[in-house]
Amino acid sequence: MAPKKTDTNTEELKKAILEQEEQRAYHSERFWKIETQVKDALVRQATDDALRDVSLGALVLGSSDIHYECFADYVVVRFRIDGVLVDIFRLTQAQYKKIIERLKYAAGLKLNITNIPQDGKYSLKIDETKKIDVRVSTLPIHYGENIVCRILDSENTVINFEDLGFFWTSKRMLERTIEKKSGMMLVTGPTGSGKTTTLYTILNRLNSRDKKIITLEDPIEYQLDGIVQSEIDDKNGVTFESGLKACLRQDPDIIMVWEIRDFETLQTATAASLTGHLVLSTLHTKSAADTLDRMINMGLKPYILASALDTIVAQRLVRRICPHCKIEKAKTPTDTAIIEAMMKETGMNMLSSEHMKLYEWEGCGKCNHSGYKWRIWVYEIITLTEKIRDIIRKWGTVEQVIHEARNGDLITMKEDGILKALKGYTTIEEILRVI
Ligand SMILES: [Zn+2]
Repeated sequence: MAPKKTDTNTEELKKAILEQEEQRAYHSERFWKIETQVKDALVRQATDDALRDVSLGALVLGSSDIHYECFADYVVVRFRIDGVLVDIFRLTQAQYKKIIERLKYAAGLKLNITNIPQDGKYSLKIDETKKIDVRVSTLPIHYGENIVCRILDSENTVINFEDLGFFWTSKRMLERTIEKKSGMMLVTGPTGSGKTTTLYTILNRLNSRDKKIITLEDPIEYQLDGIVQSEIDDKNGVTFESGLKACLRQDPDIIMVWEIRDFETLQTATAASLTGHLVLSTLHTKSAADTLDRMINMGLKPYILASALDTIVAQRLVRRICPHCKIEKAKTPTDTAIIEAMMKETGMNMLSSEHMKLYEWEGCGKCNHSGYKWRIWVYEIITLTEKIRDIIRKWGTVEQVIHEARNGDLITMKEDGILKALKGYTTIEEILRVI
């Protein structure tokens, strides 16, 4: 494992850079346009239009969620854009009342129930052929009902394998695993780290008529053509464990079980890997090293882990610097100091920081003056080589595994992030914010 240093100097630099970044204004004339449209519609009593204007506005700005948050005198509408919450505009309680009634009606929620949480879904028609689902959940709070709407846009979910942004060595490691007939690959990271997109994109690449691919999800959010998708149903006894066993009786080549939460599922999944299936799944862990620890702590025998598992992909999403207003940055002594400190921490100090370029942004209409547009992934990938399998079989420590992996191709998440910042895909500030 990379040495965990609490270098106060690095921490101070990091704090200073992040504070500076936060002070940069983030506002756009588009927010004002959405606000005007919504409020005009409310004056006309056209609540359906108002709801549509908020939803379409969120979609146009590339948001994943719409938040309505109640305070004593007003309600704030916020969008999550590229992973970050942004205040868009405010409503009075009276204006919000009109929107919430329409929203609850559209989502099939009970209008008269305001004191318990509810959830539902509405569809947003974009044009004659396209509609987008929006999942709605309410939470009663002191000042009213807060609402969060998740925009389920399937077109953003499956992307081109090349666009996942793996560096060459990482991509080669991953391809070796998924091209095998049997084995196991785990994608790990917190909620919102883009695990769905990574897994769906890999499944889509593996999807061909000569293979049977079955998924077990909770719930199915997107339909993948040509893949058999099934869903957890606790009420009817379809758990991850029982569902996985049922899927295995369907003669699959590849199985994707959305999440491994308990030992029974882990045991069934590893058994599937050992009996000639390719198993893909996710675990809710922070890093590749963490994942090994978790699996052993769940009760899996090291010799089974060593044989069943092939690759762990730990990942985070960071915002991509806006390509329209990106400029090369004149490095300050602070920048050089932070690059050098990070390089040292990650063992990359053989590279000279002198010729490295950094980038910053000016802000433009295309990124709503945020400096960022879309997101990219940063990864840490461990592939179990024979040597690593041996270490695990002999009850070696996670540190020994990481040490051995570093002799090979392992790039830590921080290194991957720094390399992507130096290549101009994102900024050092963004890497510091997320990792
Ligand atoms: Zn821009």
